[in-house]
Amino acid sequence: MASLSRLTEVRTDEVKLIGPKSAEKLTDAGIRHVADLLHHVPHRYIDRTNKTPIARIPIGSEVTVIGEVMSVTTRRPRGNLVIIEAVVADDTARIKAVWFNQRFRLNQLTEGSQIALSGVVESFRGALQMKSPDVDVLGSGLEGLVTGRVVPIHSTVAKISTGTIRRAIHNALTRSRPIDDTVPVEFLASHGLMGRDEAFAAIHFPDSMDEIGPARRRLVYDELFRLELALALQKRKQMLAAAGIAHELSGDLVSRFLGGLPYKLTTAQRRVLEEIESDLGAAHPMHRLLQGEVGSGKTVVAVATLLHGLEGGWQGAIMAPTEVLAEQHYLGVGSLLAEAGLSPDPLSADSTLGMESLFAGEGPAVHLALLTSSSASVNYRQEITRSELVSDIGNGQVDLVVGTHALIQEGLQFGRLGVAVVDEQHRFGVAQRVQLKEKAESVDPDLLIMTATPIPRTLSMTLYGDLDVSVIDQMPPGRSPVHTQLLARSQENAAWKLVVDQVGEGRQAFVVCPLVEDSPNVEAASAVAEHARLSEIMSDLRVGLIHGQLPSSEKESVMGAFRAGEIDVLVSTTVIEVGIDIPNATVMVIEDADRFGLSQLHQLRGRVGRGMHPGTCLLLADPTTTEGEDRLAAMVGTTDGFILAEEDLRIRGQGTVFGTRQSGVKDLRLADILRDYDLLVAARRDAFALVGVDPALEGHPGLAEEVRAMLGEEVEWLFVS
Ligand code: ADP
Ligand code: MG
Repeated sequence: MASLSRLTEVRTDEVKLIGPKSAEKLTDAGIRHVADLLHHVPHRYIDRTNKTPIARIPIGSEVTVIGEVMSVTTRRPRGNLVIIEAVVADDTARIKAVWFNQRFRLNQLTEGSQIALSGVVESFRGALQMKSPDVDVLGSGLEGLVTGRVVPIHSTVAKISTGTIRRAIHNALTRSRPIDDTVPVEFLASHGLMGRDEAFAAIHFPDSMDEIGPARRRLVYDELFRLELALALQKRKQMLAAAGIAHELSGDLVSRFLGGLPYKLTTAQRRVLEEIESDLGAAHPMHRLLQGEVGSGKTVVAVATLLHGLEGGWQGAIMAPTEVLAEQHYLGVGSLLAEAGLSPDPLSADSTLGMESLFAGEGPAVHLALLTSSSASVNYRQEITRSELVSDIGNGQVDLVVGTHALIQEGLQFGRLGVAVVDEQHRFGVAQRVQLKEKAESVDPDLLIMTATPIPRTLSMTLYGDLDVSVIDQMPPGRSPVHTQLLARSQENAAWKLVVDQVGEGRQAFVVCPLVEDSPNVEAASAVAEHARLSEIMSDLRVGLIHGQLPSSEKESVMGAFRAGEIDVLVSTTVIEVGIDIPNATVMVIEDADRFGLSQLHQLRGRVGRGMHPGTCLLLADPTTTEGEDRLAAMVGTTDGFILAEEDLRIRGQGTVFGTRQSGVKDLRLADILRDYDLLVAARRDAFALVGVDPALEGHPGLAEEVRAMLGEEVEWLFVS
């Protein structure tokens, strides 16, 4: 009898057929131990329960043929053409398979070994033939596992053939079974799920095709249940954190702030602010995700949130993912307060942001500061060194700090951090979130996480499953949706003409250069070249340039000039992706748009049409992949971020969407949160119910052990209470 948690301690080289070398390679491929190996489930099955002899295969049909490789020949009839032919036979007949220029097939074709060929069977000069069939190597020996039954096809991993993997898993299963079931039986019964041991056996070596689906469902449920348990435990831990702050909300600072704005909050903004206020007033710390499209007005809500804290004498922090964005937030927060008549205009000649007037004599002045890794020069006292600023944050002199991840660096400690806002959470991980909170002295600050990336419910239940969610699902009045159009590269002049026309009307434009994955240097170089080219094409316009490799002082001054209308067209890399707010910009041209991800395109598009004038987004691309085509079609088809996010998930698959987020989610091996949505909902409900009645899983030690063992060290701290 083995438990899954025990099996996470058994190394794969303890399994027959897996030596130390292979074990190492398996580890590199993410299969660290026997429990992982058992989760390497077949990606396909071939039904051999009704064995069709080669002699009786109908011509013209698509089939899988299984037989022994009798011979392999390679020919080079001319030039570069390489033809590989193999003759495969069973007891009844032989069939010829032909591949053109697929030299790698030679690795799969060993005389005497069993293979499965999948493809269309033809008759060629009276003989049976398959052209370019898929090959699955079944290996030799162990006939029982490949004949007269459902044959599982485990994908090769670490260069170990599917045949060897299958036999290794067979060995691992045999020595591990029966596998403990830790999930409460009432949950299993209510979803009609089979036992775990039975499920592992059936998914790897089903007796019939009918067993596979139910076995998979059971194991998917397990995976999701473990993940949701971890989230439920984390959420409970957050709720119980004793040191939360019950903020005093009776002051009038926020209503003065809102009353001073030149507009009224939308219904959605008001609802969300109320949700936040009820968290702020409660004794437990807030952990809330604020979602809202670009331009939906999250910043105003965030500032109101921070002001609630400030009024009670607490410090506030905003953490942004890039310097450009941090700087913009710094200016934005200052000007929002100015707009509301609560502070001097930060853009005016005297750029010190001592907001003496904020409390109009009834308390200390509010001091706003900017902290990034490169600059500490902009802050409430004009002349201040970085270390002075750090010490002012520590002694409570600074009230509100806007910064990059510099905020969570070593050596920085807040004196009395009460509310923290994290912008664009998808760029940060859970770890940074926790680190920021630890910057508070002895209390657990309230945390608001803002994201402009719409997150489908499927993802918010997994990625952000420990957070409460608020959505600003309404745009401020008077915005018209950005018009989006696809142009081939050969039509680029139409794009530049629109730019010139719009600038003629007093508007401004962005041109986003092609994405160069993993190479900021090459990307910067291409932006420089594109800037030169466009300066020629639009020689009458003032064309500016910004990219990630510029020193931040220069980035700041370019953004400043663009904001001030001294630049007509800003050529840039994706540094302008998030949060940049230039209401006068109406055109965005995205070059080689097919290379960008859907959510990135949507983010970029959100940079235009933010003011009174409608925006246009031109996607310049000659897509070379269907995925690229799909993305562009989706962009043209809708401006609804939630629809695009679902579409993105569908096109890219969950693996890439999860990226570097918490390990528990990355580790989903079997579950597909779109396809398995019903199980996700069920597992979440069960997990939260269980943690509700057994908060430390003391009554379910096996389950607790399993969550810890399967989700790795990162959840270790969940159980520390
Ligand atoms: P987000 O942070 O969600 O992208 P912002 O908070 O930057 O959006 O708001 C975008 C613009 O809309 C800003 O110029 C802001 O002043 C303005 N705005 C915000 N809320 C409203 C509202 N209720 N009515 C009109 N304009 C608004
Ligand atoms: Mg914003």
